[in-house]
Amino acid sequence: MGYPLLEIHHQPIYQNAVAIRRYCAAQGVSVCAVIKGFHAHPSIVRTQVAAGFSMLGSASLPHLAAVKAEGYAVETLALRIPMLSELPELVRVADISLNSEWVTLQALDREAARQEKVHHVILMRDLGDLREGVFDSAAFRALAEKVENTMPHLHLRGIGVNLTCYGSVIPTRENLSVLVADARAIEERIGRRLEIVSGGSTSSLPLLQRGELPEGINHLRVGEGLIVPCDLLDYWQCRIPGLSNHTLILKGEVVEAARKPTMPVGEKGRDALGNVKQYRDLGWRKRVLLAMGVFDFGDCDKLIPCDPSIQILGASSDHLILDVENCSCDYQVGDVLAFEMHYKAMLFATANPLVDKRDMD
Ligand SMILES: *Cc1c(COP(=O)(O)O)cnc(C)c1O
Repeated sequence: MGYPLLEIHHQPIYQNAVAIRRYCAAQGVSVCAVIKGFHAHPSIVRTQVAAGFSMLGSASLPHLAAVKAEGYAVETLALRIPMLSELPELVRVADISLNSEWVTLQALDREAARQEKVHHVILMRDLGDLREGVFDSAAFRALAEKVENTMPHLHLRGIGVNLTCYGSVIPTRENLSVLVADARAIEERIGRRLEIVSGGSTSSLPLLQRGELPEGINHLRVGEGLIVPCDLLDYWQCRIPGLSNHTLILKGEVVEAARKPTMPVGEKGRDALGNVKQYRDLGWRKRVLLAMGVFDFGDCDKLIPCDPSIQILGASSDHLILDVENCSCDYQVGDVLAFEMHYKAMLFATANPLVDKRDMD
């Protein structure tokens, strides 16, 4: 077993899953567990299924195919607006998909007919974040009605919205109420209830916790908060009881420990990744070099040292540089240092086959 090593701590992963699932259920909100952020790692998926989720979602169809191959008794949700080129596979592996384009819905109806299935769709509304979804309310309501009335192999399961991802728009009582109004208007037109009104992702949890999620929102799609809830806890003061960030621990080995100046010596251009950087001269300090890099965690500022007196100085593709001057422990070559992660580091560490993975209790 080598380094870098990703430890997968299943007990906190399970506890986070149960905590969020129950917390939302108590407010009438069911949760789709989003598995794309950890690359649908099989043991993590198994733990989340054991924690009671009945719907799993991902933007990548291979993730959903793997869930189906395991035979879990869950529904699969395709999260990214589908490519026309992937519709045959989508209908095979996804029970439900998020959609926004009329041309794609028509092709999807034809493909579902070809496979003799009824495929479920959730239509996406754009409420200002400007990623996916229909921006105009009248056009959105008309689209829903057309799906309901003209597409025998599609079932209009509900409607949804995505916020925060591109435009950084925060979910609020106001913007989510617009989605609920759309739902009620569509129900009026089609003469039945919509089963799902999906009010966003992890970033909607603070609203739910404050008790401000509009009535009528009955579904969320949560990925980040289930595995790395540190942003929820630290940036958004969303303290759902029982959440822990000690779920995925990335470990790297020290290959050099030395005292060096803090100001690089010589004429400066750009760093390994093409960035122009500022450096502060703090004199000579003790630093260590770790044998892991951008390949393994994306950005070094998305790592959280488990020893809080470690300061991250920088990283290149395969090295991480740390200031350890203030540490009580005298780190040496061969020592192993541990880090919790933010979302982006999780994306990289879980997807990189060169990072060893080890299942822990
Ligand atoms: C990735 C994704 C989610 C989950 O987002 P988190 O921030 O990880 O909770 C939800 N909905 C859609 C459409 C997504 O693409």
